[in-house]
Amino acid sequence: MRDPGLWDYCKNKKLCLNHIHWDGGLRPEDLFAWYNADVSQDRPPLVWPENDVRGNPLPQAGQPFKDVEELRGFMHGLLVKQGFGEVFKVSLQTLQDADDMREMALAHCRYLADHNITFAETRFAPWYHTDGEMSMQYAIGAAINAFGEAREETGVEVRPIVCINRELDGEDACLVVEAARPYANELAGIDLACIENDRPPWMFRGAFMLAKTYGLRRTVHAGEMCDEQTNLDNIYQALEQLDANGISHARPLYKKTVDGFDLVEHMIKNQVRLESNPRSNERTFGQDIAELHLDKLVEWGVLVTVNPDDPMLWPDGDTVHNLYALGVLYDKEFVDQMVANSYAAAWTGR
Ligand SMILES: [Zn+2]
Repeated sequence: MRDPGLWDYCKNKKLCLNHIHWDGGLRPEDLFAWYNADVSQDRPPLVWPENDVRGNPLPQAGQPFKDVEELRGFMHGLLVKQGFGEVFKVSLQTLQDADDMREMALAHCRYLADHNITFAETRFAPWYHTDGEMSMQYAIGAAINAFGEAREETGVEVRPIVCINRELDGEDACLVVEAARPYANELAGIDLACIENDRPPWMFRGAFMLAKTYGLRRTVHAGEMCDEQTNLDNIYQALEQLDANGISHARPLYKKTVDGFDLVEHMIKNQVRLESNPRSNERTFGQDIAELHLDKLVEWGVLVTVNPDDPMLWPDGDTVHNLYALGVLYDKEFVDQMVANSYAAAWTGR
């Protein structure tokens, strides 16, 4: 049973987001409308993929999604029923030229406004936005312009983060950073994202050092998808070898040390923020939110923020669901702390 008082308390909070993905943050309503808006524009069909996440053929393969609810259900099936690539393809196809980016930046900012978000570091991987005519550099510029226009209309400020999709090799990762370089003053920073297994942070040291040279802040998806020891090693590498200013997920960070290195002490000393995504971890990896020990991390002095990650991929993925889960686990003061931290940790460039 939901506590309506606590729910409303969380729902009415105005805050910043340090960690949300553009492609995982577009509402199925907006995606469905885009695909069905104007057939004369030669948009790709919105159809069921060939196979499920295990590679088994889907009976609905090639058939159009009947309605928004069917699409919503499909998106909620990420990694349980549907593959990573298939789910993200639905939103990535809507972000392949400047006009579409404009439409989807507006849709995203309207969603944020509806959820009391005043500022967000929305991320996207430019490599995935070059299926049409756009180069990576053009895509980054188009996204910045699109969010600038959306701000005029919604009042919500988005300062994007450019992600390196970690299936790239070190050289291609440097190309992503080079594409971001002309926009160093308008971007919140650079991130390392996507499937973490077998792609440890050290592989991207060159790209991250380049980003540092160009004055770009650095955050890393680390300690999310692997076994505990590898997760800890990846957090260590992100901090020590990529000189990260932010770490996301870091599920076993409460263990505090790895091989004698004090991760928490390093984060506090170097003012590295933790972008936590509790509901995402719970839904994707069966992580017990209590076992993230965010209370302990806050007590130790880590700058912890709470984020939705990919809010459209779970039925309870919005920011309010994350805040509420922490409110139930701890108390309203902890919720207040998360809200205050979201402002303190925001890379607004001001
Ligand atoms: Zn993420």
